[in-house]
Amino acid sequence: MAKALLLLSGGLDSTLAGRLLLGLGVQVEAVNFTSPFCRCTPKSLGCSAARKAADQLGIPVRVFGTGADYLEMVKHPRFPRGSGVNPCIDCRIMIFSRAGRHMAEVGADFIATGEVLGERPMSQRLEAMRLIERESGLAGKVLRPLSARLLEPSEPEKSGLVDRSRLLSIQGRSRQPQIQLARELGITDYLCPAGGCLLTDKEFAARFRDMMEHEPGFGLREARLLSVGRHFRIPSGSKVIVGRNQEENQAMAAAQAAGEALVAPAVVPGPSALCRPESAETAAALVAAYTEGGMTIDVVVRGSAGGVCQMASVQPALRASAAAWRVGSRPPAGGGPDGD
Ligand code: SF4
Repeated sequence: MAKALLLLSGGLDSTLAGRLLLGLGVQVEAVNFTSPFCRCTPKSLGCSAARKAADQLGIPVRVFGTGADYLEMVKHPRFPRGSGVNPCIDCRIMIFSRAGRHMAEVGADFIATGEVLGERPMSQRLEAMRLIERESGLAGKVLRPLSARLLEPSEPEKSGLVDRSRLLSIQGRSRQPQIQLARELGITDYLCPAGGCLLTDKEFAARFRDMMEHEPGFGLREARLLSVGRHFRIPSGSKVIVGRNQEENQAMAAAQAAGEALVAPAVVPGPSALCRPESAETAAALVAAYTEGGMTIDVVVRGSAGGVCQMASVQPALRASAAAWRVGSRPPAGGGPDGD
């Protein structure tokens, strides 16, 4: 019996690909790779959408994390980025290479994916698909059941392991054929659709580029903080992050590292700010600006070693200053000095 290693995201396309292969009598095992920039689920859980999809398909799934090497790839991709800072081709090469190694370990005959020709502008163009296969050492070993009949036959099709005539010829960005097929196959519950990658987000991309310019050696902790709070690059060149809600205030408190200060209102409720100790005064002014009413307040500064000090009667930062320092700010919509 042929054995496939399916790249399973938990989205509709890869779930359909798995179901089609199972229908052809192929044994299927799945693999899922989470990234530090996936916003679908908490990383501690792995990709729960992939686990759920694997359960529905009745197949085993192994979830792998990606870490510092993934961040390095995102910082310095070999191929052009997409509209954000998403290096989709490099990303796919890395994931395919790892999947290829796992394929050998589990004794699978080929890799299967839910890719649809022309669905994604970067990585699902024909040329890009060929490049990714070649660069990951998997030329001919990747089967894309949803679009296979529009593509060169892969090795499992050529060798007769998989009946090409029963594969599909879906292409393009409309998802209607997949939705129709899901109905026919009784697949009703699919999560984590396209759009789960922060690297494609414009606001996130601005923050990432700012870090590349000012702190290019930044690590995974700083990368994860890029999706937390409002970010300011103040005139000293230092970064200040101001929480937007209780959850973000708590996340910053938990992430506070040696040599960082956490600034918060002393009495009234309001946001926390994470910064270098030498930026505490500016951070305090930003905290005051984002405290309801944008008023003069007392603040508490907590050092990473547990030291605490107070600053009395901190004036809120000027709206124009906050707006000028903001990294990747959105249009004003009311609420703080620049609207959120
Ligand atoms: S959208 Fe994100 S996860 Fe998907 S291929 Fe591009 S960089 Fe990788």
